[in-house]
Amino acid sequence: MPAQGANTVNPASPKPRHDAVVIGAGAIGLAVAWRAAQRGLRVLVLERERIGAGASHVAAGMLAPVTEATFGEERLTELGLASAARWPRFARELGAASGLDPSLRACGTLVVARDRDEAEALDREIVFRRSLGLAADRLLGSEARRLEPALAPTIRLALHAPDDHAVDPRRLTAALAAACAREGVEVREGVAVEEVVIEGGEVTGVGVADARGSGSGSVPVAGEAASFVAAGTVVVAAGSWSGALPGVPERARVPVRPVKGQVLRLRDPEGPGLLHRSLRMDTGLRSGYLVPRGDGRYVLGATVEERGYDTSITAGALHDLVHDAAELLPGVLELELEEAIAGLRPGTPDNAPVIGPAAVGGLVWATGHYRNGILLAPLTADAVAAMLVGEEPRAKIDAADPRRFAAGGAAAAGTRSPLSDARPTPSDRTPLSGARR
Ligand code: FAD
Repeated sequence: MPAQGANTVNPASPKPRHDAVVIGAGAIGLAVAWRAAQRGLRVLVLERERIGAGASHVAAGMLAPVTEATFGEERLTELGLASAARWPRFARELGAASGLDPSLRACGTLVVARDRDEAEALDREIVFRRSLGLAADRLLGSEARRLEPALAPTIRLALHAPDDHAVDPRRLTAALAAACAREGVEVREGVAVEEVVIEGGEVTGVGVADARGSGSGSVPVAGEAASFVAAGTVVVAAGSWSGALPGVPERARVPVRPVKGQVLRLRDPEGPGLLHRSLRMDTGLRSGYLVPRGDGRYVLGATVEERGYDTSITAGALHDLVHDAAELLPGVLELELEEAIAGLRPGTPDNAPVIGPAAVGGLVWATGHYRNGILLAPLTADAVAAMLVGEEPRAKIDAADPRRFAAGGAAAAGTRSPLSDARPTPSDRTPLSGARR
């Protein structure tokens, strides 16, 4: 991607202690920091809360470009496929670098249909995926039950995506944090970026505050004013908060908004075995999924709600998630409840991420990954690390170009994609339980 504003390290003087300051220690910020440090950059990550406390803490961890594929979003599917192809090597390297296993499971995914209407809709989804050359097998109910014997006898048809896998996002962020530490990345928790600082038309650093309550100016940085952290380049990986960072000029903003998702985390006291593959469903009204972790734990999700930064848990949403899952896999009702939690997906008007230089020098976006941030972490990290050292990203990431929002982009924040509105899919995009209330 050609540079638009400075996308490499600023030649600012005096030379900042950090070549890159990354805002946000989620899966994206940590992956970017790790890869950038591997390229020889001195990287500081500033995290308002704790490592991995944002959407990355809630995500189910599906690496599912095939089952997520949506008509009209083919370029996003290409991004997903490119990142999925990187995942096995990324996980191996990360495991070796961190000493921690991010728990990548080559499990495959089943999308199931219960009645004739759902089966007809699923048949169309299978045809669409095959037209893109994606691996999507059509299974009769009996064939699906041979793969997953615990499925309800009422299942009529299934789409089997053998290449859609899963990872444990909490283990992923823990491994990334450890790999960052070993690579010399400095990660500071409890430090909120309050402002992106611009001098002479270029971003020169960030203004910070101790988010644990000590107030602005309480974070001493050697050789710098207490509330200012100088940076060669600032990378915004602040998830659903990325669109509203103070200091970023209006013309350079990107329209990222929070999209709430409620999930349940369940555990089988009998251990693993109830379900081996990720299981997805779309009732027309609601969609959802059950993702096995391989150790007897499951993530059941998720609502898709436009409720700003609200992360409350509602009884109705949880009822609907359990009700729908139990129709497909009755054994779900025997599982123990470990946690109910809500997270905020960083959504954009076209559901694609925002990766690349901002319209102001010294600022780079790595955000807006919506429901695919775990899947897209390896691709994003490689692309941003390349930009930070002045190289062209090796992967084609045009679909994520921030310039697509250049004209009136900020005004589009809070609007929904005409594509996603027009065509509900078997992903977690359709208005779900919470969205109806
Ligand atoms: P986050 O993980 O949200 O991290 C951003 C961090 O920035 C936070 O820790 C926050 O505290 C910090 N921050 C914000 N503002 C500031 C500031 N001013 N100063 C300092 N720090 C700041 N993706 C998949 O690929 N597969 C899935 O199966 C999947 N399932 C999902 C299910 C649910 C219910 C949800 C909510 C999301 C799901 N996602 C999934 C999407 C995925 O979680 C996100 O796309 C991804 O986690 C985004 O990562 P991130 O690092 O950009 O943001």
